[in-house]
Amino acid sequence: MDISLVIPLFNEEESLRPLVKWITEVMAKHDHQYEIIFVNDGSSDKSWDVVKELKAQHGDLIKALSFRRNYGKAAALDQGFEVAAGSVVITMDADLQDSPEEIVPLYKMVMEEGYDLVSGWKKKRHDPLTKTIPSKLFNAVARKVSGIKLHDFNCGLKAYKLEVVQDINVYGDMHRWMPVLAKWQGYPNIGEKVVEHRSREFGVSKFGAKRLISGFLDLLTLFFVGKFNKKPMHFFGTLGLISIMLGIMTLIYLTVMKVFFEMPRIQDRPLFFFGLLTLIIGTQLFLTGFISELINDSRGRHSNYNIKERIL
Ligand code: UDP
Ligand code: MG
Repeated sequence: MDISLVIPLFNEEESLRPLVKWITEVMAKHDHQYEIIFVNDGSSDKSWDVVKELKAQHGDLIKALSFRRNYGKAAALDQGFEVAAGSVVITMDADLQDSPEEIVPLYKMVMEEGYDLVSGWKKKRHDPLTKTIPSKLFNAVARKVSGIKLHDFNCGLKAYKLEVVQDINVYGDMHRWMPVLAKWQGYPNIGEKVVEHRSREFGVSKFGAKRLISGFLDLLTLFFVGKFNKKPMHFFGTLGLISIMLGIMTLIYLTVMKVFFEMPRIQDRPLFFFGLLTLIIGTQLFLTGFISELINDSRGRHSNYNIKERIL
């Protein structure tokens, strides 16, 4: 198998038939073995019926899973990756905004130019301004934090070497940060390709303005997890120790002042409260470090998603 297309979908009933038609037309011009993996992320419309109908028509070309409820795009990708067998795994959106014409060029970039991951760049976007302006800002911050020079982190169209998707664990809303996850997992060759982007024909976008806030929070988490994942104690413990030392020194100073210099009413001095607070906060930080270490130890790698049906 050369190429696995992983396509997450959530209420995209109108787009699926034209999408498969378009993919098969494009791929017929080339000589690559490929498969289409649909992951139905708990759609409430007829998407799953359409997928089953397409499966009946196309047989082995199509594999599909269906979640019992909506878990989010990252979960859908994660489970799609479990099934993927192609040497190159390409993710694309189901809404016809990504063009299948990009599949083979992306495949070539991974196979021939040695990239671990190639991200699409929707240079000319067909989305409302309320989406494109925040996106510019968002990408600028992401470039700074991650050190990866991509213009469009959130592009749904991306190509990976098979081992990259097998090695990274994507959950929550982390689908936006696949390049960062890949880099931290030890895959530094990350490329970019300008891709054609089209406006949405059917249905609506599934991500609202909320994506901005959650996107930034995820980036923060990612940065933190990536830096200190293996050693939370190094982070919390250091801060905790500094804080505790500050507290102890302050309180010793006040005690000395009281005992030897007979300073009255140390409890009225702001410094007294500072000393107490830093001591308490320090202890808490320290304990947080310990607990994180414990959780880190016992944490399993895979989440459980409730899969209603698999047709492979
Ligand atoms: N999607 C999904 N689960 C979700 C939200 C979205 O599987 O909870 C899919 C959706 O069906 C589409 C892709 O993820 O195939 C991208 O979603 P959308 O087009 O809404 O995002 P946008 O293009 O607006 O960024
Ligand atoms: Mg879209």
